[in-house]
Amino acid sequence: MSIGTKDIIVEKVKTSKIDKVDFDNLTFGSVFTDHMLVCSYKNGAWETPKVVPYQPITLDPSSKIFHYGQSIFEGMKAYKDENGEVFLFRPLENFKRLNISAERMCIPNLPQEYFMDGLTTLLNLDKKFIPTKEGSSLYIRPFMFASGNGFHASPADEYKFIIACAPSGAYFSGKVKVLIEEKYSRSANGGVGFAKTGGNYAGQFYPTQLAVKKGYNQVIWTDDTNHEFIEEAGAMNIFVRINNTLLTGPTSDRILDGITRKSILDIAKDQGIKTEIRKITVKEVVEAAKDGTLKEMFGAGTAAVISPISSFGYRDTDYELPELENSFGKRLKKIITDIQYNKSEDKYGWRFKVTE
Ligand SMILES: *Cc1c(COP(=O)(O)O)cnc(C)c1O
Repeated sequence: MSIGTKDIIVEKVKTSKIDKVDFDNLTFGSVFTDHMLVCSYKNGAWETPKVVPYQPITLDPSSKIFHYGQSIFEGMKAYKDENGEVFLFRPLENFKRLNISAERMCIPNLPQEYFMDGLTTLLNLDKKFIPTKEGSSLYIRPFMFASGNGFHASPADEYKFIIACAPSGAYFSGKVKVLIEEKYSRSANGGVGFAKTGGNYAGQFYPTQLAVKKGYNQVIWTDDTNHEFIEEAGAMNIFVRINNTLLTGPTSDRILDGITRKSILDIAKDQGIKTEIRKITVKEVVEAAKDGTLKEMFGAGTAAVISPISSFGYRDTDYELPELENSFGKRLKKIITDIQYNKSEDKYGWRFKVTE
């Protein structure tokens, strides 16, 4: 089955909301563009995607999404360069991961053209919403959920795939204080930690709130068995620099395969930065903090690219990280964002031009 961009049904808004958007004071993901993409799955097949005015969706109270949480999402961004051309960063990776999440949650796979053509049609229509201020972008949220009805605890027979977009300002996380979590777990062996599915994030809220009450911003997740290994930073992958080696854990059932994470690993290697993908113990990080060999820790994900950690708490002690001039995090972030905003050559072939 193949569709072309021209097959997508487009219903445009009568009046644009663009004048109501305060581009000087954008936050993250709270104002939306004029249109959204909607695609329905019925009778065993995905129907032709439609671009329609951004609007609420009506669901039956027995829709399975409400009861059994069959729901997945992706997070990506569109970037505008100085000439007004629009780019995505490795969008096929998001598409592939969407289907990996779908499979785990018993949601039907989406064809690649529906995702790519739907997305590019939507972005070309709403490109005036993509902010141009340094560091700002259009946050894109593709998601899929069970819209089929019935209280029976089984996979639904109907689904919706939607893409909604939100112009967003530069992400300044400030100094992030994290707490190494030893009681609660984000994910488990054989579980759904590798999937971007709603329940993973709902389950994080409570332990994160407890950490916030203690004065931290975020939780560092450790393995569910013995809380011995460092796994993720909130909803980001985690990197630790000990001396001049950049470490990150291997992806698994429990650790999400982040696109930022793998891009950082490729760039770091090219930059001559020594990287190691291996399990990182809490013990070695605490010891490195004590003897001064712990140089940097940062989270990695689409929203912030790199989010530097200023200190971490572990069993009633806080450990400060140094302020580095030659930080790996800063250097890697600059290289990635220069590719994203079409400011540098893209030898990796990661940049994807959206504008026709
Ligand atoms: C989305 C996500 C990441 C980062 O993935 P990117 O593809 O880099 O945005 C990391 N960890 C978790 C738990 C996530 O949900």
